[in-house]
Amino acid sequence: MTLPRPSFGILSARITFEDPEESGKSIMSIRSICIYCGSRPGNRPEYVEQAAQFARVLARRGIRIVYGGASVGVMGAIADAALSEGGTVVGVIPQSLVDREVAHAGLSQLIVTASMHERKARMADLSDAFVALPGGIGTLEEIFEIWTWSQLGLHAKPCGLLNIAGYYDSLQRFMDETVANGFLHHKHRAMLVSADSVDGLLEAFEAYEAPEVMKWIEREET
Ligand code: AMP
Repeated sequence: MTLPRPSFGILSARITFEDPEESGKSIMSIRSICIYCGSRPGNRPEYVEQAAQFARVLARRGIRIVYGGASVGVMGAIADAALSEGGTVVGVIPQSLVDREVAHAGLSQLIVTASMHERKARMADLSDAFVALPGGIGTLEEIFEIWTWSQLGLHAKPCGLLNIAGYYDSLQRFMDETVANGFLHHKHRAMLVSADSVDGLLEAFEAYEAPEVMKWIEREET
């Protein structure tokens, strides 16, 4: 049986990252942040409220938001909040999800892609940093993929969790266990920053220096 190629193999064709071997770090001013978050609101009001607050802060600081383009759940809440504050919000959604996730009609820009892979590649291309807010498996898949690209040495952009209402506490404990059990190097673990507050996360992003990592593969090999 032939197994399908991992999704990042397709993603690699489109992403343009700086070469961490040359720079060693990602000292960059963050002008555009990619937000991964739930297409559902979750069942605690803090999830939507604090996600919206994060989006308003980004808008006030002139930081563009790139996200999945939906008008529902936490996704819709961050878009509405940033737009109401005069922010710039770019949605990237595959044609197949335009109806199911109810593509947001009022964004600064809506990019409709032919596939999910193209969606993720465009979102990565357009962003200087990546953050996961509370969400489900789509959110987790997206942040894990971009984090694993850091581990592979394919980009040096910061990735993080905004740990609203402790939502990611148990995931962080589990990731620490993967280090303790010898499946993840602590250097790679540290590439996923986490903060409980918006200011804490943005400060961690600005201060982020990608560690020197041995490049496991070249772009052409993915
Ligand atoms: P969720 O966190 O499951 O509510 O999904 C959040 C976003 O992730 C939605 O826009 C989904 O379309 C998207 N998503 C779901 N599955 C995937 C996947 N396999 N790869 C990338 N994005 C996904």
